[in-house]
Amino acid sequence: DLQQLHQIQPYLWTLPLKPGESRKEVLLYGSKPLLESMDDKVLEQIANVASLPGLVSAAMTMPDAHWGYGFPIGGVAAFDAEQGGVISAGGVGFDISCGIRCLRSKLNIQDVRPHLSTLADRLFHTIPAGVGEEGLLKLDTKQLDQVLLGGARWAVQQGYGREADLEFIEERGCMAGAVPANVSELAKKRQRGEMGTLGSGNHYLEVQVVDRIFDTTAAQAFGLQENQIIISIHCGSRGLGHQIGTEYLVSMAKAAGRCGIHLPDRELACAPIKSPEGQQYIGAMNAGINCALANRQILTHLTHETFMEVFPNSELETLFDVSHNTCKIEKHKIGGKSRVLHVHRKGATRAFGPGHDTLPERYRAVGQPVIIGGSMGTGSYVLAGSSDNPAFASASHGAGRALSRHQALARWHGKQLIGELAQQGILIRSRSMRGVAEEAPGAYKDVDLVAEATEQAGLARRVAFLRPLACVKG
Ligand code: 5GP
Ligand code: MN
Ligand code: MN
Repeated sequence: DLQQLHQIQPYLWTLPLKPGESRKEVLLYGSKPLLESMDDKVLEQIANVASLPGLVSAAMTMPDAHWGYGFPIGGVAAFDAEQGGVISAGGVGFDISCGIRCLRSKLNIQDVRPHLSTLADRLFHTIPAGVGEEGLLKLDTKQLDQVLLGGARWAVQQGYGREADLEFIEERGCMAGAVPANVSELAKKRQRGEMGTLGSGNHYLEVQVVDRIFDTTAAQAFGLQENQIIISIHCGSRGLGHQIGTEYLVSMAKAAGRCGIHLPDRELACAPIKSPEGQQYIGAMNAGINCALANRQILTHLTHETFMEVFPNSELETLFDVSHNTCKIEKHKIGGKSRVLHVHRKGATRAFGPGHDTLPERYRAVGQPVIIGGSMGTGSYVLAGSSDNPAFASASHGAGRALSRHQALARWHGKQLIGELAQQGILIRSRSMRGVAEEAPGAYKDVDLVAEATEQAGLARRVAFLRPLACVKG
């Protein structure tokens, strides 16, 4: 409800304090139509986040924000350990390190169009997708510990994908600070057969074509040109991440109680960064990040193999791999002073600007690739991190839901939707018609508006628009 908000800039809004309310500032990035369509629950949730101890400057929402568990999806919050700052499992999200791996091919639309149906079938056959679908690997606890320590680097060592992929993954494919011992046996058991699987619902593997270039210099650095075929893989840490989130929620609620942290919402359970529970979670979460990085690396390999079957000699390269459910320890300048912060990005993508020293050399002059998923029927965007990003180097991660899964189910039928999309030349492959209906393009916000607002708010610059051709849905 816009009436509660105060507009500071064309693409920046704030939520004024209610009488008697005590919290830090809330900043909402986005355009008027996007904020108008945002559910009121987001405002309540982000105001709750702004009341947590040790929050630095403001609690923020990205243009694609919508209601989530505790923290909104599209929420960004940075905390300072030295000022009693906290870490929250709900602020990371249950699918730890869910993210998007983007691959570029040397194929163009003319090469692929005649074989699209075969390609979609082959990918659907090869990529384990859907509830309970298991992967080729069966790992015991010991092997899984290696995954949790090594991330995508482990996967490459096992023969999945190539060393060259690693440079183009955040953290070079391996998150430091992972502590497998902080991950329960149950979490590891749940992951036993789930390495190299897509998962269900919102997760997807999509074949896309570059439909429009916005920024030629950045596109050139990213190796993108019009009519080129791109593949995006969206998935996360599967059962392992979910189990970590579930268990640490309980331990964080206890820690919060012990440390006298007032929780306006039970779902906001958090622990001081410096507490034992906080530190244990960080070790477990980093292990979860490695699980997701390894998972996307295996899926990259399977995708590459399948492409080579259908199009011999069609090499795929990793454009980038971004996570959008994390808490990362980063240095940020606050009021001219460099500080070490714990930056929660839940349904938000890291978006380092040009010159950042962690970026691969190839991209350093233009900024980090930022990937915004849209929907299987509309499209997606590649952006580049802006200099002077005002939100702890964060940007949108998707179009964001406009309707709940429940509402979508009441409005669409999976089979019918697949037929309609096929008429537009978009092929959907899924085991779950219910899942397809829940993910109807109409259930998401307008991705064009989100990408435009992301740019106008100074979060990231649009580089390319990707149009969907075929989508394997979880
Ligand atoms: P989340 O990580 O929050 O579950 O999803 C990220 C974003 O992916 C959503 O906000 C939505 O815009 C986008 N998305 C969901 N399903 C699809 C799909 O099948 N294809 C594409 N390109 N994007 C999707
Ligand atoms: Mn996910
Ligand atoms: Mn995701």
